[in-house]
Amino acid sequence: MTFESLGLKKELLKAIEEKGYTNPSPIQEKAIPVILEGKDVLASAQTGTGKTAGFTLPILQIISDTKNPKYRPIRALILTPTRELAAQIYDNVREYSRHLNIKSTVIFGGVKPKSQIATLRSGVDVLVATPGRLLDLHQQKALSLKRVDLFILDEADRMLDMGFVRDINKVIEFLPTKRQNLLFSATFSKEIKKLAQGILNNPVLVEAAPENTTAEMVTQKIYRVPKSRKTAMVTQLISDGNWNQVLIFTRTKHGANRLADKLNKKDISAAAIHGNKSQGARTKALKGFKENTIRVLVATDIAARGLDIPLLPHVINYELPNIPEDYVHRIGRTGRAGASGEAISLVSGEEAEYVRNIEKLLKQKLEIVELEGFDLTPTEQPQQNNTSTKKPKKTGTSQQGDSQKRNFRAKRKPNDGNNNSGSSNRRKTNSKRKPNRGPRRES
Ligand code: AMP
Repeated sequence: MTFESLGLKKELLKAIEEKGYTNPSPIQEKAIPVILEGKDVLASAQTGTGKTAGFTLPILQIISDTKNPKYRPIRALILTPTRELAAQIYDNVREYSRHLNIKSTVIFGGVKPKSQIATLRSGVDVLVATPGRLLDLHQQKALSLKRVDLFILDEADRMLDMGFVRDINKVIEFLPTKRQNLLFSATFSKEIKKLAQGILNNPVLVEAAPENTTAEMVTQKIYRVPKSRKTAMVTQLISDGNWNQVLIFTRTKHGANRLADKLNKKDISAAAIHGNKSQGARTKALKGFKENTIRVLVATDIAARGLDIPLLPHVINYELPNIPEDYVHRIGRTGRAGASGEAISLVSGEEAEYVRNIEKLLKQKLEIVELEGFDLTPTEQPQQNNTSTKKPKKTGTSQQGDSQKRNFRAKRKPNDGNNNSGSSNRRKTNSKRKPNRGPRRES
């Protein structure tokens, strides 16, 4: 299959060639012809599948074919949850439209709106936006959505996770009823299906990969380690493996900051990226990481979602996410575009339940390996000098791991690890906490 056979015009083919793409990805093969026919699309696709080009190329073609030569109302609105993702999509739109007479811009919060307003006033055909800033500027009458023909909701599942459902519904009120809608989501919960029903009209279902399956090329490993030794383990893995581009996920913003600081102190250049960081700091960290001046990017789930970092060889889950779908998103950062990658999860005794939930979702057992010197058994004192061993020891699957983890719980002293209080420790290790699926607004 070639891009030409998908019916794309020569200006777009030229831009695609300049990007160096030779063949369309599966999602592009499926989505582009359907979108060009003017149909609504419900697409199941993760970041890394080439979905951005999958919707951007056909919408640019539709707009350029039906353009009013004198007048430039917003014809396509691409709504996306995070600033980074918005900036990336905008970069793509600009690159793919470089040989067309199409103007585009991006708007998101965290920066002053003045220049965004000025650009909007000068007229744009394609607008990429995060919901909050879009509604703000709409209220200020800095933009009108009355002429939107194409509405694209990207990362819809993440939008719902972040509590954007009301904002989305408000945006829809400002759109004309007659329009083409494209909804992209990595997962399909009941909520997404409900949202899709309210937006899409007789959609064509397009799937890039089966729901909630992880990229085949990704090797997934669990390293069992006491919580208090995770930083030492990360440091050792990165140093011994001489890894130069590592994305590490932490559960909290503070955790991300702390880990980045500790790695920097060990001469492993690292930056944290999360919702409390200014837009400038986030952009700088991402740029440094992409240009290899920063070796490690420590991120929270929401900040990392959708980051376009091609061919990332290593992803580390410093802590496992309590929402199993987030694990799938996280490890989707590696092994992209046909390249192999490694996703490592550092799992302490408290996280056994998360492993079980992830395995249930994936319908697959995760391989457990042990790094010598990082014994989970708490009765053994952590050795001071244990960085000499490089080779991980393979110990089987997590089923065995579970029983070892149970032993770990039984043997664990109330006062070991990071917890000072025996009772809170017990609470943590034994509790059957339900994943918190409430709205998360980080960006
Ligand atoms: P996305 O899933 O849209 O975030 O795209 C993931 C990465 O794949 C981006 O770096 C794109 O530039 C790249 N990409 C998109 N389409 C293709 C293609 N047909 N061939 C090779 N790379 C592509």
